[in-house]
Amino acid sequence: MLSSIAKNITPSATCELEGVVADLRAAGVDVIGMNAGEPGFDTPENIRELCKRALDEGKTRYVNVPGIAALREAVCEKLERDNGVIYEPSQICVSTGAKQALNNAVMAVVNRGDEVIIPMPGWVSYVEIVKLAGGVPVCVDTKEDFQLDISAVEKAVTPKTAAIIINTPNNPTGAVYTRESLEKLAGLAVEHDFYIISDEVYEKLIYNGKVHECVASFSEEAYNHTILINGMSKAFAMTGWRCGYTAAPAEIAAGISAIQGHTTSNGTTFVQWASVEALRHNEESVKEMVAEYARRKDYAYGRLTSMEGITCANVDGAFYLLPDVSHYFGKKYGEREIRDSFDLCSYILEEAHVAIVPGGAFRAPGCVRIAYTNSMEKIAEGMDRMERALSKLG
Ligand code: PMP
Ligand code: GLU
Repeated sequence: MLSSIAKNITPSATCELEGVVADLRAAGVDVIGMNAGEPGFDTPENIRELCKRALDEGKTRYVNVPGIAALREAVCEKLERDNGVIYEPSQICVSTGAKQALNNAVMAVVNRGDEVIIPMPGWVSYVEIVKLAGGVPVCVDTKEDFQLDISAVEKAVTPKTAAIIINTPNNPTGAVYTRESLEKLAGLAVEHDFYIISDEVYEKLIYNGKVHECVASFSEEAYNHTILINGMSKAFAMTGWRCGYTAAPAEIAAGISAIQGHTTSNGTTFVQWASVEALRHNEESVKEMVAEYARRKDYAYGRLTSMEGITCANVDGAFYLLPDVSHYFGKKYGEREIRDSFDLCSYILEEAHVAIVPGGAFRAPGCVRIAYTNSMEKIAEGMDRMERALSKLG
């Protein structure tokens, strides 16, 4: 019989949908993907070359659980250069993706029954990661513009609060948190002594001159209350490589490495060598990708907001838009009624062969998540198809 942990876990809606899309494509259906939270580019060549070289040089064995020294040093350089925070290599643990880094971090600071605050709409995995660690997720709404609602966070704090998980730039909203709100959050974390688990994987994907604020850099107290999460997937188009990391106060970092030592051991060795190259030599390729995402975002935003009944916040980060499509709830296609975001996304997938993610999966029930990572041509065709399918609802 399944354990209660396994029974209580909701499978990842984003990962499941990828599976459905892959099956449809294998069956010959021409699906346009605007679902996956994954860069629409190949991994830059210098990173691939470095990986091949690492394989040829025999970098194929076990290494230290928290990662090779060269990568932990490169991470420290990156954190100082980009984020203004100083960490020692001993405070870094390299993991199999930021997803594992998040699981490690939560397991390292959450006791059974402890509460973890999660701003919503939020990424599908946070609630489940907290549940896996035996913690209690406490979801709080963000403001209408998807910025942190500090007074809602403050109201949610109790003596059992162990942490808050924040994500800026945000999946699925695209919001970039302001320095002011993060300073207030840091104040709350210090006052009530809880951790900020700060997921910064979309840090580089930021537009319109907005700046990513790293909460750990605000003060020594903020630093001591933060576990920083980042990774290679989003910035360097390396989702399949599975490389992420935590940077944390020394005691927490040791706990994280101990946990990882009994789960996966070290992250893949030759991927770590390639990641050193990514962190040191890829500023230009990141800039090019970001400029292209900005173009795609403006186009997708323009198309969505010109569709009947759709409203959308024009946000500044990540590669997602979260339009409100509730105008279409209650409408019908023949006998088929669209009751919610799940129904609408199934309808659009079946009718238009366009994959988008139901907002319901992120606790944004009136919305759908559109990833603008696909090529401009595919986004244009996807929007055409979606618009035609929506116009058939009455
Ligand atoms: N955090 C957020 C907000 C994400 O969207 C993702 C995407 N999968 C991750 C963490 C995990 O990234 P990865 O495991 O690929 O490094
Ligand atoms: N984070 C991406 C998404 O939200 C990839 C899938 C996942 O890991 O959830 O689509």
